[in-house]
Amino acid sequence: MKRLDGKIALITGAARGIGLAFAKAYVSEGARVAIADIDIARAKTAAAELGENAIAVELDVTDQSSIDGAVAATIAQFGQIDVLINNAAIFTAAPIAEISRDDYARVFDINVSGTLFMMQAVANHMIERGGGGKIINMASQAGRRGEPLVAVYCATKAAVISLTQSAGLNLIQHGINVNAISPGVVDGEHWDGVDAFFAKHEGKAPGQKKSEVAAGVPFGRMGVAEDLTGMAVFLASDDAEYVVAQTYNVDGGQWMS
Ligand code: NAD
Repeated sequence: MKRLDGKIALITGAARGIGLAFAKAYVSEGARVAIADIDIARAKTAAAELGENAIAVELDVTDQSSIDGAVAATIAQFGQIDVLINNAAIFTAAPIAEISRDDYARVFDINVSGTLFMMQAVANHMIERGGGGKIINMASQAGRRGEPLVAVYCATKAAVISLTQSAGLNLIQHGINVNAISPGVVDGEHWDGVDAFFAKHEGKAPGQKKSEVAAGVPFGRMGVAEDLTGMAVFLASDDAEYVVAQTYNVDGGQWMS
């Protein structure tokens, strides 16, 4: 018996990085997954790699008709959705003096509105079929404390933690557990943009910011996506029935340092 036998999961932003690692871990635990991403070409490649237990679904979390379409496509293929992971997000960084309204609105639209309206669409489906289900939101250490050049991204992740608390308290009456995972720094393509930003704004050499961040992790190295999969499997499993509205640090000790 695997821990997610028979479960159906929709994972946003799963064409690469942490979301893809979640999709792989879920399939190996017996689930079938919808890899939902704005990058449909890459989502198709990822789904093909996972075989008959995965489908690729085109999704732009900023577009309500796209959200409704992705939820409907997953239900049409697999019959229901038991688990949603709100993983899609983008990073942005700028000194306060240079933050533009357009960038602020775009990042909030993806990271916060996307999380909220995906929760709404999937929770409504879960309630219609009698309740029960698991929703996991991706927060970040960035949502727990400020960073001098990362105000907007930090604020979006603080909002995700807050949404998790309120949605968790609201939806548990329907047997839907809403919780969040808060990673520290996790290696991956996401870091290409982060590194380029700090090279520009702090004059760092390529890769320097990443090495400095990695050196400060109490565990002794930067995280990798696979460090997060155990928590993602647990929160989607029946073992997490009594876990409500929580945000769990999985960060190699960074929050404590
Ligand atoms: P990533 O940038 O590698 O992947 C994000 C995915 O989201 C991409 O496949 C992208 O195509 C997709 N996406 C972007 N906009 C979208 C939209 N509008 N609709 C649907 N999909 C969209 O990110 P990652 O590093 O794997 O991070 C995954 C999650 O973990 C994010 O929520 C991120 O904020 C969080 N996180 C990451 C780190 C880290 O250091 N990598 C740390 C803490 C938290």
